[in-house]
Amino acid sequence: MRLFFALWPGPALREQLAALGREARHRCGGRATPPDKLHLTLAFLGEASAPQADALAASTRERAIAPGTWTLSRIGHFPRAGGHFPRAGVVWAGGDAGAEALATLHDRLAALADDAGLGVRSPGAFTPHVTLLRRAGAPPEGWRPTPLDWHYRAAALVASTSRHGTHEYVTLARTRH
Ligand code: ATP
Ligand code: MG
Repeated sequence: MRLFFALWPGPALREQLAALGREARHRCGGRATPPDKLHLTLAFLGEASAPQADALAASTRERAIAPGTWTLSRIGHFPRAGGHFPRAGVVWAGGDAGAEALATLHDRLAALADDAGLGVRSPGAFTPHVTLLRRAGAPPEGWRPTPLDWHYRAAALVASTSRHGTHEYVTLARTRH
């Protein structure tokens, strides 16, 4: 299984993000992230064994994070180089207000994973984002969505598994709050 730390939106924010995803799909094409899979990855840890996952789940439950607010105010695009699809790419929602606290969270959770013997497998800078679309075209220049405030109090340790061709996220543990 692959492990990652993430923030999962509550029901109201999830619906707002899903609506933004539908609007993005209308503008950029591609495939929208199903509402229950909308999330923010705080730290990607990569492949882990079951004992490693158990150990990290236990230390996650003992940990608390500083609550905060992240404001999603812009739409970004990761073009996918060398993909098979002529309009390959990820369209995401992100924002700078509150992003510094997320970078701090990234560092703290990465350190927690490191203590459990799992390193962070993300090359390059941490760019907080919520993937709205895959295989999508570039968003139109100047599109500024109505800002959404994401209030968070806990982070989740999530396992990502593929079984019978279906892809699942399973929450293994949450930080205390
Ligand atoms: P799939 O890869 O099967 O299409 P997925 O990308 O949703 O599905 P994972 O690849 O397990 O699932 O990734 C889990 C989360 O971690 C996602 O938010 C993904 O964007 C992020 N992620 C995956 N690989 C990396 C990486 N190398 N660096 C940073 N984040 C990553
Ligand atoms: Mg992936």
